[in-house]
Amino acid sequence: MIGTVTDDLVAEWSEFSESALGGLGSADFRTQWKAIAGGGILRTAASDASVGPVTRALAAVEGIGVGGTPAGLCYALASQRFGIQFPLQSFGAPAWTALADGVERGDILLCHALTEEGGGSDPLSMTTRAVPSGDGGWRLNGRKAFVTAAPVADHALVFARTATERTPFALSAFLVDLSTSGVRRSDPFPKVALTGVPMGALDFDDVRLEPERLVGQEGAGLALLTTTTSWERALLLGYALGPMRRVLDRTVDWARSRRQFDRPMGGSHLVAGRIADMALAVHRSRTLVYAMAHRFDRSESARSLASDAALTKISVAQDYLEFSRQAAMLGGVRSFIADTGLTVDLADPMAASVYAGPNDLLRVSVARELGLPVQN
Ligand SMILES: Cc1cc2nc3c(=O)[nH]c(=O)nc-3n(C[C@H](O)[C@H](O)[C@H](O)COP(=O)(O)OP(=O)(O)OC[C@H]3O[C@@H](n4cnc5c(N)ncnc54)[C@H](O)[C@@H]3O)c2cc1C
Repeated sequence: MIGTVTDDLVAEWSEFSESALGGLGSADFRTQWKAIAGGGILRTAASDASVGPVTRALAAVEGIGVGGTPAGLCYALASQRFGIQFPLQSFGAPAWTALADGVERGDILLCHALTEEGGGSDPLSMTTRAVPSGDGGWRLNGRKAFVTAAPVADHALVFARTATERTPFALSAFLVDLSTSGVRRSDPFPKVALTGVPMGALDFDDVRLEPERLVGQEGAGLALLTTTTSWERALLLGYALGPMRRVLDRTVDWARSRRQFDRPMGGSHLVAGRIADMALAVHRSRTLVYAMAHRFDRSESARSLASDAALTKISVAQDYLEFSRQAAMLGGVRSFIADTGLTVDLADPMAASVYAGPNDLLRVSVARELGLPVQN
């Protein structure tokens, strides 16, 4: 799963991202996106005997992070790649087929519009509504909030209610062109985690959707959501592997060079133990996420991987948070001052416990799978 070929890919992507983003440090999000996408990170590679397309995509995401791509951009690329592109490829709707090439080139940016102000954890509580327009199309009304990339995206995968009852078939999904009349994008929200990518809201005011905008069948929204969330939970946190490896390397350097009590700080068993725990978190997270990529490459279905994807997401999110806590401790005051080279962002790893299904709710579903009579 993780072997020499994967490590070589990670190294290649690391090198590519350093040169692609060189001099673009203060460029806007779309410019940076395009620079990285230009290397083909959003394109599905042909599978070869040693590494499948999902593992290749994961190695690319890890590699750009190792190369120093800002965490928010790594997150956004991973979110589109694993949470939208791969799932839509398997659904293969006409609206997706028309967009695929532009998306893979990095010219068309997508966002995943599920959450509403009144209900994030509970999709069936959504109020955004699509009603038949009488000519095979739909009219969309409502508001999605807290959507990554919404202020800058071109198209959104929007989940909307197409039936009033609270049933598994009440939701449908649409690929909506955000330049359509009646769509309004908010300004970016003043977000404090993953600041490298904007987040915002989308308002739909009687937006006319052609019939081919529907993804899958009417009522298949929750089934598609099960697919997109399985992919996300399995692989999205692959975005953190690169930043974690960078933080581990620089923490080791710091512990070797910093002198305390007339010896290097890393000569303390307590410090060494913390660093070993950080390495363990990176190792465990890499092993879990690459194992999931390998299983997708073996064509295991998103539905069959749902439980393991949830366990992977919980585990990596917890490890990422604990890892960052250790790094912050060892950096001392420098962890909290910009430009020290040791700054630690604790908001990014904390946010990982919330998106793609809050860890608490995922834990409840894990317990339910084990046979406990527990509901959300
Ligand atoms: C960085 C980031 C990026 C995001 N990007 C997107 C995006 O691109 N598209 C999108 O649609 N959304 C996005 N979201 C929103 C995200 O999906 C929601 O935050 C998530 O679904 C949780 O919804 P909520 O925030 O409304 O939390 P709530 O539903 O209000 O829940 C808050 C907390 O309460 C607890 N809780 C609530 N109910 C239960 C229960 N029944 N059992 C146990 N615990 C419970 C949990 O601890 C939970 O974390 C993003 C969020 C973040 C932080």
